[in-house]
Amino acid sequence: MGGMAARQNDQAEIKQKVTCKRETFEDLMDVYQLLLEAYGPRHWWPAETPFEMMVGAILTQNTTWVNVEKAIRNMGKRLTSDYIAAAPLEELGELIRSSGYFRQKAQRLKNLTEWYAQYTYDIEKARARKGEALRAELLAIKGIGPETADSILLYALDKLFFVIDAYTRRILERLGYTLPQTYDELRMVIEQNILADLTVYQEFHALLVEHAKRHCTKEPRCCACPVEGICWYRQGKVT
Ligand code: SF4
Repeated sequence: MGGMAARQNDQAEIKQKVTCKRETFEDLMDVYQLLLEAYGPRHWWPAETPFEMMVGAILTQNTTWVNVEKAIRNMGKRLTSDYIAAAPLEELGELIRSSGYFRQKAQRLKNLTEWYAQYTYDIEKARARKGEALRAELLAIKGIGPETADSILLYALDKLFFVIDAYTRRILERLGYTLPQTYDELRMVIEQNILADLTVYQEFHALLVEHAKRHCTKEPRCCACPVEGICWYRQGKVT
């Protein structure tokens, strides 16, 4: 009987750990400040021009940044909207082979460039459009989902859309936040709780990526983590 009671207590405790979550996102800016102090500004996105940034956002789908860099190096001076618009699909695919899914991505680059042509490849003309309208246009392009669209909006078009990726979910869940299921719900709840400032948006996403690589890895390295003092996983409140 004693054993059974202990087991029931254990189960109740585990259930409490799993369901005990932060109720609001009000302290998200504290997380931002701690990460910024620990890692410093990341100055994202790593690209020389807004167009290169947009190309990188497509190439990075389902692969590591190292492979994207190889593809970008390989493109060299051909990394222009004029070249991508005119290049045969196969030739373009060969150039970006290292990024994986290269045929699909070559087509996506052409789709993106076709969209950009309506702004005569002029980033300022595109930036003059409202963010929501640009987002709808980007999401209508075959092969561009919310994460890629929001990366382009935030880092090339200077629009306030927070980028959500798997790292964002992993870190926020461990910190103890109750996360909405869908991409857009989570994006909006974050946007409602952080400063409406382009640098904050750009840096925060980049800092989360850095944190996911340095400390909050698949098996977290909690020792000396810059946010361990406010992390519910570290405190044993969530599993
Ligand atoms: S304390 Fe551990 S689980 Fe929490 S954010 Fe840091 S690395 Fe992740």
